[in-house]
Amino acid sequence: MARPDVIVIGAGVVGLSTAIAAQARGLSVIVVDREGPAAGASAGNAGAFAFTDILPLASPGILKKAPKWLLDPLGPLSVPPAYALKIAPWMFRFWRACQPSRVAQATAAQTSLMDLSKAELEPFLAATDTLSMLHKEGNLQVYESEAEFQASLPGWEARRNHGIEFQHLKADEMAAIQPGLASRFILGTFTPGWYSIADPKLYTLALAAHFRSRGGVIETSEISSLRALPVGVEVVAADGKLRQTGKVVLAAGAFSHRIAKTLGEHIPLETERGYNTTLPADAFDLRTQITFGGHGFVVSKLSTGIRVGGAVELGGLALPPNFRRSEAMLQKARTFLSGLKPEGGVQWMGFRPSLPDSLPAIGSAKVTPDVIYAFGHGHLGLTQSAGTARIVADLLTRQAPAIDLTPFSPQRF
Ligand SMILES: Cc1cc2nc3c(=O)[nH]c(=O)nc-3n(C[C@H](O)[C@H](O)[C@H](O)COP(=O)(O)OP(=O)(O)OC[C@H]3O[C@@H](n4cnc5c(N)ncnc54)[C@H](O)[C@@H]3O)c2cc1C
Repeated sequence: MARPDVIVIGAGVVGLSTAIAAQARGLSVIVVDREGPAAGASAGNAGAFAFTDILPLASPGILKKAPKWLLDPLGPLSVPPAYALKIAPWMFRFWRACQPSRVAQATAAQTSLMDLSKAELEPFLAATDTLSMLHKEGNLQVYESEAEFQASLPGWEARRNHGIEFQHLKADEMAAIQPGLASRFILGTFTPGWYSIADPKLYTLALAAHFRSRGGVIETSEISSLRALPVGVEVVAADGKLRQTGKVVLAAGAFSHRIAKTLGEHIPLETERGYNTTLPADAFDLRTQITFGGHGFVVSKLSTGIRVGGAVELGGLALPPNFRRSEAMLQKARTFLSGLKPEGGVQWMGFRPSLPDSLPAIGSAKVTPDVIYAFGHGHLGLTQSAGTARIVADLLTRQAPAIDLTPFSPQRF
């Protein structure tokens, strides 16, 4: 393809979903990734379609929990001293986004993207022959005290106001859904509308295979910069290779801001590094995803194993991983789930691409409508991938997007 209609930068779940949606509109599409498909966060995440997670992370609730969490160096939230100064401007923006009026706006925006993503998901899975990978086993959020449960109630009320279904449960009712929970968990909330994918890496690879089967091309190349042309875009690779295209979709996850910067745009994208351990499939008889909210991690059932992980480490893109975090969560899971076998696990760290107000950036670059940004989905990139793909395909084909994109404007900061 000498001059494709579209070049998508990034072969994660967001880039590939978008490439497939653009291809389905009759556009010629090349996907470029420096490592190949499923190399980033899309490979190792918890596999949840967390459609009920409409409340932004930036909220007064997190400000209350953060000081306690920060005291534990291996706890749910950490800032390595070597990165503390660098992350300060992002944290200031995060703190501002915690104002109640902004939280309400972000919740409304997140709900619109969640509703669209949920509506798009099953048709997208059917069209890409991946529907068999979808599981509907819900999520069980567990609490260790009446006080923790009470503190969660305003969040559940906000979800109820947005039509989200859930049931609060006592210990015996939780045991009926998930046997083996430690007795310290006295209350829980079950959300049936929380889905999951069999394995996020296999799913992303299946999307790559589907894209190729329809004539799509995936190239391995590192992109270093973009140049706006009078019509179209010039894409510059790290090896100096130049290529022209009609449009670019920038979906390079946590690294996207580096490429946006070459168009003169500063986007405050940071990474919330997350950790996990994937145990063999027989490590525990898991019936639903379990969220240990007070401890900042989840336990997920995948076709390839039991994944224990989460946590947020605001440590940037360059520091080496600290896998003691994976171990700390696994140790806790061992005491929380009776009979969990902790042996034989594989550890992983991934870069969540996160903007300070917990919303992604979806929309055109400032200098040219021919570059469309699709990054910054934070904890929810898999969840929002089908909705994002639909929106970007609309923008590429000059159709009105299905939802109001103002709250997602890349220029909102
Ligand atoms: C521990 C953890 C658990 C999570 N759990 C969930 C969950 O349950 N549900 C959910 O919805 N989300 C979850 N997430 C978040 C989710 O994984 C991300 O939001 C999502 O994967 C982002 O997808 P992406 O395609 O934007 O980025 P990525 O998957 O990171 O893909 C970006 C791609 O861009 C490529 N790239 C980068 N720079 C360049 C360059 N210069 N040139 C060419 N290519 C480049 C990379 O190689 C990579 O393949 C979790 C994340 C973590 C870390």
